[in-house]
Amino acid sequence: MLEALDRQRAAFTAAMPEPLAIRGDRIARAIALLVDHREALAAAASADFGHRSTEQTLLTDILPSVSALKHARKHLKRWARGEGRATLFPLNLIGARSRVEYQPKGVIGIIAPWNFPIGMVMAPLAGVLAAGNRAMVKPSEFTPRVSALLAELIAQHFAAEEVAVITGGVETGTAFAGLPFDHLVFTGATGVGKHVMRAAAENLVPVTLELGGKSPTIISRSADLPRAAERIALGKLMNAGQICLAPDYLLVPREQEGEVIEAVGAAATRMYPTLLANPDYTAIINARHRDRLTAHLADALARGAEAVEINPAGEDFAAANANKLPLTILRNVDDGMSVMQEEIFGPILPVVPYDTIAGAIDYINARPRPLGLSWFGRDRAEEQQVLSRTVSGGVTINDVVFHVTMDDLPFGGIGPSGMGHYHGVEGFRSFSHARSVFRQSPLDVAALAGLKPPYGRMTLATLARELRK
Ligand code: NAD
Repeated sequence: MLEALDRQRAAFTAAMPEPLAIRGDRIARAIALLVDHREALAAAASADFGHRSTEQTLLTDILPSVSALKHARKHLKRWARGEGRATLFPLNLIGARSRVEYQPKGVIGIIAPWNFPIGMVMAPLAGVLAAGNRAMVKPSEFTPRVSALLAELIAQHFAAEEVAVITGGVETGTAFAGLPFDHLVFTGATGVGKHVMRAAAENLVPVTLELGGKSPTIISRSADLPRAAERIALGKLMNAGQICLAPDYLLVPREQEGEVIEAVGAAATRMYPTLLANPDYTAIINARHRDRLTAHLADALARGAEAVEINPAGEDFAAANANKLPLTILRNVDDGMSVMQEEIFGPILPVVPYDTIAGAIDYINARPRPLGLSWFGRDRAEEQQVLSRTVSGGVTINDVVFHVTMDDLPFGGIGPSGMGHYHGVEGFRSFSHARSVFRQSPLDVAALAGLKPPYGRMTLATLARELRK
């Protein structure tokens, strides 16, 4: 791995400055890889998940990646342009100039999770390649077919000095995180993010951490409930809840709890009248994660939660030879339950009633800062109250998840849900070094400003001018 990194860095150094045309060409090759091989990638994802529809992979992995890459290609020239900055008086009057140049950092490491096994590799590449970097990618071991296919396709479309794929599990990931990259992007669990940051610290490698957490969704008393319920069901059940931004739990007006549960259940039933053989419904990635989710349910029920299972056709999941799970809505939950302590990452949806919106806000603020937050409603004053009184990575109003699909918005978490951003110009800047360039005046500045010993009248004049309140 170190050898691959050394080769990339040597190629990067030899090629400096990385022309915009080459960056654009790399982005075009990444787009071609995705568009030309979308069916094969979707088939690999389905095999890895046990089942995942081609439509879903196209909608949630291929399309967002292509969109991010095209956005980067379109704006690359503007993003890469350096900018003039203010020069201090009086140097500005005698020909000195200040500017910022955005320089590629060099070789960027990308560690990706399994839930969007193609998107979480290819979308970060948009900013990485646009900024003129080389990349080494470590995809997830939980999606071995996708990872192997990505390795093969990337090797076909890129020289090893441009983009290289390293496949492997935790051991490989650990060694990968310890490489002296110029920047490391990690998408994965908060707990693993700590290991990655620790390993990166050894070489002082800057990190972008795209982590998870418990993203709340608030339903306001002013919400259009049927529409909110449908959007929540859609967002929660896409990829069977295995989305970093999926609504982890709902905060609902106490008197509407029953109505909300009914409406979410009805919307889920309309979209997925059956589940086990339904090609649109994604399986849980593996038995280990399925068992993790059923253990959450068992723990919640043992501690007094009430489960509303949305299983419209009454199918027998326990007897099925698959890792699919139905949506289970939980009420009467409390902090003692594991489902209210850990990120759920599956089709379980706890409902937490609130009396006042201030109470809902306090509930959120008493917990770790989430990656996403959603609020449904029409009351603009309440919307403002929620926006200004909470902190989260991003927010979607009147829907869930959607802010991540806006290519021009920065995407990232805060605190335990992550640090740094990618997407849009913020992504470009994360993977660039903002290099300060100052051009000095041809005049004898030090003498004019009294900076040169022996200090005297000019020195005192400068100090007297600058050190006024
Ligand atoms: P994970 O953290 O278990 O694994 C992610 C990647 O890290 C894998 O490639 C894995 O091999 C590697 N890895 C594991 N241990 C490592 C170590 N010690 N050092 C270096 N690398 C290591 O996460 P996962 O289960 O694949 O994905 C689910 C998590 O990812 C959820 O928490 C979810 O919220 C989060 N996620 C976040 C985003 C986001 O954009 N913020 C997007 C998707 C998923």
